[in-house]
Amino acid sequence: MSRRLVATLVALLALSAACGGSSGSPAASTSGYRVMATTSVFADIARLALGDSVQIDSIVPAGIDVHTFEPSPSDAAKIATADLIIMNGLGLDEWVVPLIEAAHKSSSDLLRLGEGLDASDSWVYLAPADSGATHSYDPHVWLDPIGAAHYVQRIADRVVQDQPELTDTIRSASAKGFAALDELDADVRALFSDIPEENRKIVTFHDAFGYFARAYNITIVGVAIASPGQDPSAREIAALIDAIRASGVTTVFSEVQFPSKVLTSIAAETGATVLADLYSDALGAAPGDTYISAMRANATAIAASMQR
Ligand SMILES: [Zn+2]
Repeated sequence: MSRRLVATLVALLALSAACGGSSGSPAASTSGYRVMATTSVFADIARLALGDSVQIDSIVPAGIDVHTFEPSPSDAAKIATADLIIMNGLGLDEWVVPLIEAAHKSSSDLLRLGEGLDASDSWVYLAPADSGATHSYDPHVWLDPIGAAHYVQRIADRVVQDQPELTDTIRSASAKGFAALDELDADVRALFSDIPEENRKIVTFHDAFGYFARAYNITIVGVAIASPGQDPSAREIAALIDAIRASGVTTVFSEVQFPSKVLTSIAAETGATVLADLYSDALGAAPGDTYISAMRANATAIAASMQR
């Protein structure tokens, strides 16, 4: 989906919502349909797609890493009562698959938001972040607003298919969602437009920002850990310190769901400042309590770090 196509979709969806007749204001969650997302990020992206038309919850608690999450029996119970389970796929949240089997759900109850996006348009995946990856692509597609727009489209299409009586309500909600993503993309683009390309460099904790960096022409100088759940080796730390010194980066970013002792010691070694916290795989307290506001907070902090 190109950036222009998102704008076209917004216009088309607004039109179809306007043509949808006088359904009036949507009643909140009257359908009884329940969406369960693996993470708070996908739950909020589902709200961009669906508004208040259905109930939306998530599994991974605030402050916990999705890559290494270990579900409990109560998480299996959440799956059992869901009509639709949404996950990213691409190796991020595969732990949900056994829960679905245990809850006697079928694979058709599951929507893999990030997979198979390259078939119908110009979307191009990035390679996996680390050499030990078991999947073919970097999973962090949603950190480009255009990736998030794909997720909104998929969620809206699927719930409309399951609950046709909610069609007008959902198309109206997702038209607003697409407009918000389009505005986000334009604002982030404007934020970086005045920053010289040689300053557009970042260091983050884990390798989540590849799609964001590609969208806004930013270079990722390095990351503190190659893969969540694994501490970096002395050699990796030394290489990152060299890269930070060579690049002139003065800020390294921690992330909300990861403790950052490694980053703190790398920063002390290089004279860089550790700036907390970017939102990557999890939302948090305000301003990171919605996908849109978290992305705006990320962009503002990153752009500020490049003003030197
Ligand atoms: Zn991640």
